[in-house]
Amino acid sequence: MLLSVIIPCYNEELVIQETYNRLSEVMKKTEMDYELIFVNDGSRDRTFSILLQLSQKDQFVKIISFSRNFGHQCAVTAGINNCNGNLAAIIDADLQDPPEIILDMLEIQQREKANVVYGVRKKREGESRFKLLTAKYFYRFLNKVSEVQFPIDTGDFRLIDRNIIDEFNNLHEKNKYIRGLISWMGYKQMPCYYERKERFAGETKYPLKKMMKLAKTGLLSFSNKPLMLPIWIGCIFLLISLLYAIIALVLVIIKSGSFVAGWSSIFFIVIFLGGVQLLTVGILGEYIGELFDEAKNRPEYIISEKVNL
Ligand code: UDP
Ligand code: MG
Repeated sequence: MLLSVIIPCYNEELVIQETYNRLSEVMKKTEMDYELIFVNDGSRDRTFSILLQLSQKDQFVKIISFSRNFGHQCAVTAGINNCNGNLAAIIDADLQDPPEIILDMLEIQQREKANVVYGVRKKREGESRFKLLTAKYFYRFLNKVSEVQFPIDTGDFRLIDRNIIDEFNNLHEKNKYIRGLISWMGYKQMPCYYERKERFAGETKYPLKKMMKLAKTGLLSFSNKPLMLPIWIGCIFLLISLLYAIIALVLVIIKSGSFVAGWSSIFFIVIFLGGVQLLTVGILGEYIGELFDEAKNRPEYIISEKVNL
């Protein structure tokens, strides 16, 4: 049995040595063959040179280095595409997901004969209230609008087996929401509850912009419900306008002098409908943008260097 550990790294010079130490210790406890696949996602600091030194001393350290920063999901994808294991663990480089939990995941995987063991965060330390709140509601919202059910409070920290790895490698979509895709695959998936720690050092590499992009990919690739929004809004306005027409007609018939519609109501309606139209065109645009991205069929990432692989 070979266990591949996939570790995406972007500017992680402050943590990478410690991550390597902790992971190596855990791997020795598993008594399995292993490989540590560090995916250097275009880091601009010393991450790659530290990894190179580690790989010279330790044959179990393998490196995939990107030509530039392609993003966390692409880094994980490259790790899965290039791993040789019967099992693969995906883990962040910053030690927020404790490497020791991989032992629990292995135990659950063997006991339950599971194809996926995903980490569920019982508690999250050292995250901003904004991040906790948006994450909490996003995962619940996504479950409401998507056709697939996703476990909540779950990131990409998980253990997957060869079936899942092979299925994953057969996927053709470029813009991936990995946690969602793995849930979507089915097979036997079991939770593993753990406490998410504070980052070991450095700061988050997921600013708001990247978080929103990931959320958008998750929403657009697993739900067509936003496309229904224009239809519903349209129906509501159609009804309102019909009602308004009837009222106006009745008032004209009974010759009520008080019914002189002011310009402000017209002004309001024009502005409001203009806004609604822009919003709905925007929603359509987002889906078309996704289609365009997929149609271009560019590779998800470009590897500039491989070490020990
Ligand atoms: N990461 C990456 N590419 C990126 C951003 C992040 O490979 O463009 C890696 C990062 O090095 C870390 C993991 O993805 O191993 C999760 O990032 P981070 O811990 O900064 O996110 P957070 O835990 O704050 O959501
Ligand atoms: Mg982190």
